Formats: sequence, structure tokens, C-alpha cells
Amino acid sequence: MNEAQRVRVERFLQRPGVTEVLAAFNGGGEETRVIGGAVRDLLLGEPVGDVDLATTALPEETIRRAAAAGFKSVPTGIEHGTVTIVAHGVPFETTTLRRDVETDGRRAKVVFGRDFAEDAIRRDFTVNALGLGRDGTVHDYCDGLVDLAARRIRFIGDANLRIREDYLRILRFFRFHARYGEGALDATGLAACAAGRAGLDGLSRERVRAELLKLLVAPRAADALSAMMGAGLLVPVIGGVPRLSRFAAIAAGEPAGTVYPAFRLAALAVGVREDALRLRDGLRLSNEQFDRIERIALALEGLSGRATDCSIALLRHLAHRVGADAVAGSLVLLTANESSPGRSKVQAAIAELGQTPPFLLSGRDVLKRGVAAGPDVGRVLDQARRDWIEAGCPGERTQQFAFVESAIAQRER
Ligand code: ATP
Ligand code: MG
Repeated sequence: MNEAQRVRVERFLQRPGVTEVLAAFNGGGEETRVIGGAVRDLLLGEPVGDVDLATTALPEETIRRAAAAGFKSVPTGIEHGTVTIVAHGVPFETTTLRRDVETDGRRAKVVFGRDFAEDAIRRDFTVNALGLGRDGTVHDYCDGLVDLAARRIRFIGDANLRIREDYLRILRFFRFHARYGEGALDATGLAACAAGRAGLDGLSRERVRAELLKLLVAPRAADALSAMMGAGLLVPVIGGVPRLSRFAAIAAGEPAGTVYPAFRLAALAVGVREDALRLRDGLRLSNEQFDRIERIALALEGLSGRATDCSIALLRHLAHRVGADAVAGSLVLLTANESSPGRSKVQAAIAELGQTPPFLLSGRDVLKRGVAAGPDVGRVLDQARRDWIEAGCPGERTQQFAFVESAIAQRER
């Protein structure tokens, strides 16, 4: 550890919640350490997200100590030894150490253990197996520190074997590389992932989705996706042909803080509405994720081939159907690989679209003009809105009302 890392570790151990939890779960014959992602991120100087703990204490003992210290405990995964402890409003996923017991030469049953080294070697990558003790000692059983310094994602033990134990680790390999890696992917790991390709089919779609979406928003996602493509792993995951150069252009141009997983997925894998439907089923997208990419797909269909030379009226009509955000998103996608004049033109169109005044009238205004309740009301309103868009979207209510009047007059003629 260098000096900066030591300082970060000291500060972390003094955080509200961390101090108290480690105090309560250490001593009296038990030992508890911070484990996995939090240690990795802390040492890298990245913001620390969820804090996971590994403990020699059995779940009952963890719960007992939590109660005695006044922490809330929730048995979030009690069957595999996990209890979530909430201290100072911060959740700590606390898991009893585990080890594999071998039966007939094959790893089979997992039982609770008391050995931190045995627990570490069951984890996926060397950089994910680091532990941090209450006294500030970093425990490294798998050369994770060396790999962390080299920013290398490496499987613990025999990569082929580890993948056969859980094929999701293929996606995690690329995800962690995209997030933390530098340089080329670890060649042994990459070869093992390619060899394990067939195992992807058996994974739950929800687990695949979660890993893929995390990968897509990682800083080096484009490189990781290219490597996946090269290893024959990307087409099976997205169920279609990826648009790698479009994705790379989008990822390179997006300012930090505006990175959305669903938009990245659209950038990679959506051209038409059928793509959105296929992804919904293949990855069990949430309704919200699907809605976003479906609307983008519809906008892509509406604008394909004319992104840089369409009228503002066309964009406004389309925005009424699929939402202005989807129109803007699809324009960005369609021009991602264009030269800068094309992209500036589209940026200007997006800005103009964003300044469109709202259409203030509703069915009530149509009824007030004497149209009988029924489908005609919607038809009049639609016509009025279309004419209003063609006329450049005047903002005043009275001006807008004139379009209702003329729509009614046209019907009566
Ligand atoms: P993130 O910041 O993305 O949450 P993380 O390292 O915390 O990163 P998680 O997926 O939350 O990643 O997993 C927590 C820890 O559990 C990992 O650091 C790793 O040690 C272990 N782990 C998780 N999934 C697996 C797996 N499929 N195989 C082996 N170990 C795993
Ligand atoms: Mg985590």
C-alpha cells in the first residue's frame, strides 16, 4: 500500500457505521473484515459503494451482536449466510465465511468456514478478493494487489474451471475490465471465456441483463465489447448484430453524468422496433427500460436516412408520438458516426425541438366549441395539433385555439 492508500483506508475505517460495525463484530473469538468491491475501490481511490463484510461468526451470532449493539438486521440471504446489518443508516451485507467441501472429486457442497483464505479463493477475480481488517491490514491471498496496480482482471485459480462453476463470470470478466482494466485483457481469461461460450445459454436472463447493463456504462465499454465480439460472445448475449462503431462514438462523446444504460443498449443493439422487442425478451428488460428503447426504435424508424435533413415540423410530429427525448436520442444515434457539420446540424435541431412551446389545448376546449363527446373530439384535436405544428407552433393560447376552430370548420365542410 502506498501513502495515499493508507490515508484512504484510515479515513474509511473511521466512517460512521463502519467503525461501529467492525467493533461489534470483532473480538470474543470472531473476526470480521471488509471484503471484495469496497476494498478494491478504496485502494483505487474510486468512490466506495456497497460495503460487504465477511465474518467468522455464524449468522445467529451476527444477528445477536447486531441486536446488542442496536443495529437493525435483515436476513437478506440467510440460507447462504448473509445478513444485512444497518448501522447509522448504512447497510452492510455481512456473510459468514464459506468453503467448498469436495465430494467424489467434484466441488459440491458449500459450508460455513472460519478461514479467510478459503473464502477468498472462491471469489471470481483476484482484485475482488481483497480483505480489509479492522486494524487497517489489507489481506491479499490471491495477488490481487499486484493485479490492481497493473489494472489487470485475472481469474482466481484455473480460469476454465472457474467459468464452468458459474458462466456469469464470463460477463463479469468483461464488465470489470471495462470498469477497471487497462491495456489488453488477460489472455488466459479471455481464452477461457471464449471456450466457455456455450455456457451463456443456461444463465438466467436477469443476471445477464444486470451484468450487461453495468458493462455498457463502464468507461472502457467499447473496448470490452469489441473483445467480446472477437471471442464470439457478444452476438449470443444481445441476440443480434451489434453496432460497435456507433456504440464507440456514443460512449466517447457522452459527458460523464449523462450515461444511461438503456440508451447505451439502444446505441449498441437497436435499429428498428423488432430489436427492442427481442432485447426485452432476451434480457427481460424492465417496462421502463423497454419503453425507453422502444420509443428510440420508433424514432429511428421515423428518421432513418434523413436525420440531417428533416424539417423541424417532422421532428415535432414525431416527438408527439414517441417523446422529444426519444427523438433527440435517435438523432444522436443516427449521426454518431457523421462528420461534425452533420452533428452540429442535429444538435441545433435538438435544441430547437426542446424549445417547442407546449400545446395548451385539450379535449375540453373542443367540447366547449360544441363538438359532441366521442371520437370526433380526438380527431379535431389531432388535426389542430398537426396544423399548429405546420404553422411553427405559436405559443399563445388564443393563436392555438384558432387551429381548433379551423379543424372544426374543415370537418363541417
Ligand atoms: P460492484 O461495484 O459492481 O458492486 P462488486 O465487486 O461489489 O462490484 P458484486 O457483484 O457486488 O461486485 O459482488 C461482490 C463480491 O462478491 C465480488 O467482489 C466478488 O468477490 C464476489 N462475487 C460476486 N459475484 C460472484 C461470482 N459470480 N463468482 C464469484 N464471486 C463473485
Ligand atoms: Mg457490490
